[in-house]
Amino acid sequence: MGSIEVICGGMFSGKTEEMIRRMRRATIGGKKVFLGKASKDTRYDNEQVVTHNMDRMDSVPISSVDELYQVVGDADVIGIDEVQFFTEEFIEAFENLANQGRRVILSGLDMDYAGIPFGLMPLLLARANRISKLKAVCIQCGQDASYSYRLNSDEIQIMLGSTKTYEARCRACFTEGMKS
Ligand SMILES: [Zn+2]
Repeated sequence: MGSIEVICGGMFSGKTEEMIRRMRRATIGGKKVFLGKASKDTRYDNEQVVTHNMDRMDSVPISSVDELYQVVGDADVIGIDEVQFFTEEFIEAFENLANQGRRVILSGLDMDYAGIPFGLMPLLLARANRISKLKAVCIQCGQDASYSYRLNSDEIQIMLGSTKTYEARCRACFTEGMKS
């Protein structure tokens, strides 16, 4: 039976680690796994394989639905990181892959720096068979954090991803910061 799993949360909540954990477990279980990553870059440099710093699993950058179908091959378990950067046309592709009996694991930011649901994430969450919402630690007070607070106002939504310009915050500290 195929399925769609979504791992969501703010920045620094451990989404990529959780993805890699699930991929490793699937590998141990004898499954053929594929790990990709939504490419922020629309230029054609997609054949390149990039290394995930944190845990040394290679992920393949993907920038179109056609490319997704090509690169996943016959993998039983398909993981896609940074899925918030994909357009809505990918949703049908994920459904198709799950309907073929594959396990599709998607990880991404559920909200942008303004606390607004990020791109296609709400639509993926509605379709998911399993959802994991991870928490970071609030840099201000140490509580669980669901928000990615932007320290530098020059950035745009797509720039989420740098540790220098964002910090994890709880609802209270995020709201306090947005007032000033
Ligand atoms: Zn806080």
